[in-house]
Parts: sequence; C-alpha cells; structure tokens
Amino acid sequence: MSSPNMPLDLTIDGGALTARLVDFPSVSGDELALADAVEAALRAYPHLTVDRYGNNVVARTNLGRAERVLLAGHLDTVPIADNVPSHVEGDLLYGCGTSDMKSGVAVQLRLAATLTEANRDLTFVFYDCEEIEATRNGLGHLAAQHPDWLAADFAVLMEPSGAMVEGGCQGTLKVQVRLTGVRAHAARSWLGDNAIHHAAELLGRLTAYEPRRVEIDGLEYREGLNAVRIDGGVAGNVIPDECVVTVNFRYAPDRDEAGAEAHVREVFAGYDVTVTDSAPGALPGLAQPAAQAFLAATGGNARAKFGWTDVARFSALGVPAVNYGPGDPNLAHKREEHCSLSAIAEVEERLRAWLA
Ligand SMILES: [Zn+2]
Repeated sequence: MSSPNMPLDLTIDGGALTARLVDFPSVSGDELALADAVEAALRAYPHLTVDRYGNNVVARTNLGRAERVLLAGHLDTVPIADNVPSHVEGDLLYGCGTSDMKSGVAVQLRLAATLTEANRDLTFVFYDCEEIEATRNGLGHLAAQHPDWLAADFAVLMEPSGAMVEGGCQGTLKVQVRLTGVRAHAARSWLGDNAIHHAAELLGRLTAYEPRRVEIDGLEYREGLNAVRIDGGVAGNVIPDECVVTVNFRYAPDRDEAGAEAHVREVFAGYDVTVTDSAPGALPGLAQPAAQAFLAATGGNARAKFGWTDVARFSALGVPAVNYGPGDPNLAHKREEHCSLSAIAEVEERLRAWLA
C-alpha cells in the first residue's frame, strides 16, 4: 500500500487508481487532503483550467467546442467500517468507497488527464460532503457561489448505477398530518374524542391510493405515497387528543414541488397538513442531442432513477443530468462494499468512445 500523502498518478489504470483513492481516506468533512491531491494532480495538465472552492475542485477544458459536458463525483465516503485499505479478490476491489463512489471519481480523473482533444468541452467536478446533511453538500455550495463553473449542456453524475444509465430522479415530499380530539380519562372515554382513531380514515385513504406510473423520455417512473411514521398517545389511561401521521410522497419528475404539494393536499382534503421536507425531482433530459449520443455510446439502455440524487441540483440549474457509474448501488455504504474492476474499465471505455 502506498502512503496516502503521495501524489496521485493519473496514468495508472482505473482499477488501480480506484484502489489508490480508497486508500486515501476521505470521510465526509475530512476531504481536505484528498481535495488537495486531486487539485495538484489536475494542475499538472496544461489543457485544464482548475478552480477550487473549499474542498471542491472544478477542472475545465476550453477548446471552443459547440457543446459542454460535465462529469461530477463526490470525494467523500461514509465512515470506514474496517474496510480500508482496499484489497482485490479476482475481479472485485473491496473497500470503503469502491462503489460509492471512488471508482466513478477514478474514471473522471483518468478522462480529465487523457482527453486533451475531446469532441466536446469538458467540465470535471469533484465535491465534498455528499453523504451528510444537504446544507453541507459541496455541489450545493458550488451551485450557490459559482454557478458559472457548472454551466453545461448535459451532466453525468458518476454515482454507482451498475454501469447502467439512470435518468433523472424522483422528487420527495414529506408532510405531517395532524389529527386532533379531546383528552379524557380512559375509564370515561365517552367524555373524550380519540385522535388516534381518526387515523383510521386517513390510513384508509392511503391504502386505497393508486400511485401513478409515468413514462418520460421512454423511462417509467413509479410514484408512491406512504405513511412512514405515526406519533400519538399520552398514557395508558388517557384518551389521546393528538395523533400525527408522517407521510412521504415520492413523485415522478413531471411534477414540480408545488404540484406535488398540491396533489398531497388534495388527497388529504379536510385534514391539517404541514410540509416538513421537500426536494424536487429531475427530468431525464434524454431527448437532448448530447444525451442521445451518450446513450448510443453507452449501449442505449436506460432506466429511471427512483431515489433522490444530486442530479436534481443540475436540473435546478437547467442542466439535464443522468447517473452513470461503475459502482453497484446495492453495495454502497456496506461493510463488504466492492466494485467490479471490469466495470470500471468498461465505463471509462464507453465515456471515452463518446467524448474522444
Ligand atoms: Zn454516492
């Protein structure tokens, strides 16, 4: 194992570079050393303009091409679980961040170093604090402070997607529905009005709810409206006067935040509804010319992304974005996290075919 403080060599192959990045710990909030190493490695290449904001590094070509493509990845990982340094077993590289998402970052770095005459202008974004609270997200900080650094016609977020193109992402809305009653002694319950019992009608609306399936740019999104928490009760001998049901709505990206809220309020007409959390979805944007060429180069297979990802931040800036990375999303954040070395090579090769 090489020392984490040695300079990063971007000429080694993608699997070896992934191992090198994994052996360079960068748990959220602790990305300074890795961001320094990434910045220093990129500054060695005269075809790149490199900018830095906090622990976020942005490298760009300025070739005067008609289109600009942005490749983004986060530098941080979840806490290490006795799985650093990395090790190889057959085709698999094990270690914290192999899938989520240092394999994607390795591919970005390899392409940044070697695509000196790309057919499109390229922007490479490396950011911090993706795995923790949204207010600390480096991509969010870049979008707020330096939106011009993120200007592009199309973006690829290299989060683990099993080397499949995952278009857009669903939005998420959380609401609390408050049910009220009248408190009383349980021995004289006729003097009260049980707020928990009022949840029955509300839950009935949820079980009867038929979620939409929506097709956008050929991808099918499946919505869901679900109770995710219920709070109520005072004591074992008291008729409760309050019950709060928390509901999460995961919605297709053809609805915006206001539309999603209006829909949920309509479903719960007559109830006291408070929005507690909201994040918009992102349209897949696969009709864009850059996206069409990307799909052709990556084999033409795309599926909808159901979870919320940072592609929505690009969408908010007017940049259509997809997820495409070599990692396996099912292994992210796991102790046995690993990534296929051949998938790393395949993703790099396909992106190179698209951009070279
Ligand atoms: Zn990730």
